Amino acid sequence: MVQSTLLSKEKSIDHYFLNRYESRSGNFLKLIGKSISCGQMHQNKIGIVGKSIFHRNSDGLISSKKCILTIRTADCLPIFIYAPDKKVILALHAGWKSLFAGLITNAFQELSLYGVDSINVKVGIGPHIGVCCYQVDKSLIKKFMNIIAPDQPFFQEKENNYYLNLSLVAIFQLKNKGVLQHSIDDVNICTNCSDDYYSYRRDHTDQRNYNLLMIK
Ligand SMILES: [Zn+2]
Repeated sequence: MVQSTLLSKEKSIDHYFLNRYESRSGNFLKLIGKSISCGQMHQNKIGIVGKSIFHRNSDGLISSKKCILTIRTADCLPIFIYAPDKKVILALHAGWKSLFAGLITNAFQELSLYGVDSINVKVGIGPHIGVCCYQVDKSLIKKFMNIIAPDQPFFQEKENNYYLNLSLVAIFQLKNKGVLQHSIDDVNICTNCSDDYYSYRRDHTDQRNYNLLMIK
């Protein structure tokens, strides 16, 4: 089981980025069964956790109460945010569409409603498709050029093929919202390279890796 080094240090929360085997194993299934999830529509809305255990139109969930949040992924980024000053957790399902559509901006708008100062926020990014494998059309790179600063190495070009670095896009956007570089970590596992994880790009699978974030 993989964890963010930064988030592991936080005593009030727990989190797990599960691989394909762990996602189906006993102890974790129990936690998943009790968890709150969202529809993951590849859009930009954040669901505020209350009575509902499923937030259909959201790609993110925020809570300041004791609960378990689940994000399902097979190449997209699971992004876990923790604000220790207000004990708020926020979990995001971030593919390119959501990142382009302002999911991170909306997340920080919600966090500000809880009085969170982004300078205190810690972020862990879980396994996702890496720049090694995420070949995209040049047109998509051009789209991102409109919203990412030109000095940011958010894509690679190899033999006329283009590869998008989703985590660098996310990290650029997080820093734009005031998160400090040293408060962000990425577990650096590519779901397409590692057979331990489901990858939509590799397998066109309906199965998902489960990522859990909880207030203890
Ligand atoms: Zn890879």
